[in-house]
Amino acid sequence: MADLSLFSNEQIAALLSALPDPAFILTRSGRYAAIFGGTDTRYYHDGSGLAGKYLAEVLNPEKAAWFQAQVAIALASRGLHVVEYPLAGDDVKGVGSEGPAETLWFEGRVQPLEYQVLGEDAVLWVASNITASKKLEALLRMQSETDSLTGLANRRKLMNSLTEHFELFARYKTAASVLIFDIDHFKGINDEYGHLSGDKAIMATAEVCRRELRATDFPARLGGDEFVVLMPHTDSAQAMPIAERLRLRIAEQLRELGTLGRGATISGGLSEMTAGDSAYEEVLKRADDALYRAKRDGRNRIVRH
Ligand code: GH3
Ligand code: MG
Repeated sequence: MADLSLFSNEQIAALLSALPDPAFILTRSGRYAAIFGGTDTRYYHDGSGLAGKYLAEVLNPEKAAWFQAQVAIALASRGLHVVEYPLAGDDVKGVGSEGPAETLWFEGRVQPLEYQVLGEDAVLWVASNITASKKLEALLRMQSETDSLTGLANRRKLMNSLTEHFELFARYKTAASVLIFDIDHFKGINDEYGHLSGDKAIMATAEVCRRELRATDFPARLGGDEFVVLMPHTDSAQAMPIAERLRLRIAEQLRELGTLGRGATISGGLSEMTAGDSAYEEVLKRADDALYRAKRDGRNRIVRH
């Protein structure tokens, strides 16, 4: 424990207000009993005007209830409770107008106090601005789920989506179809027109997927010249014309590119989730078998399993 007798009351007040992160004393009933620190307007809005006010007076009902619930959790646990939450300056009535304009992310460290304040149980709530690390986290997550050549979802993200949709299917029987397609004779395209033209063909293929599919459809690049489209709420009979349209439009686009001579076509295999499946891998396997048949039967076609 610090020996506070070394300091005058004014010095202690100055010390508290010099704390870089804002700290609030919040009572169980949701009243701001005191506010310290957090005066750097690059990171925080001035909260000194909140003293004496109730959460419900300065926040919308949903946020006020959330804050008060966190206070209750910290008090019940009798230990440090750590939370993360977004908040913008104009979410809080009564804070200074100077400060960051964007919505900020905070980490709140909520510590129950061993004595009562204003006749109530209370906590010390220290809020740190973690917006920069949240943004970095979001960027890294996005990069880890995106194919860098096409900007489509990558294999990892696709597998996550397939898992989710398989669970939805298993629980609610909501149909979902899976199309796997692959550019025909792509090795030859690379050999004849160069790897860069090959890359352009892959990018153009992705662009057609983005343009032609519904917002709820989920195209992904599996790797190389192989793509998968997950079509939620669509059985394979409904998915067939969509796959056919994709096949025609991709061939059209690859012809229009002009860098591939006569262009290129795709072959696809289509399947849907069925009651007997125990995992999405089985659907993927059927679609892959159908793709194999499309290749064997002469390419430039979609085969439905
Ligand atoms: P098929 O009609 O049977 O599909 O024949 P294919 O030649 O397309 O055979 P396959 O799909 O097995 O070959 C894919 C080729 O794609 C192999 C590889 O050299 C090439 N490839 C894989 N990734 C990339 C890439 O990122 N860019 C380019 N340009 N080529 C790639
Ligand atoms: Mg191929």
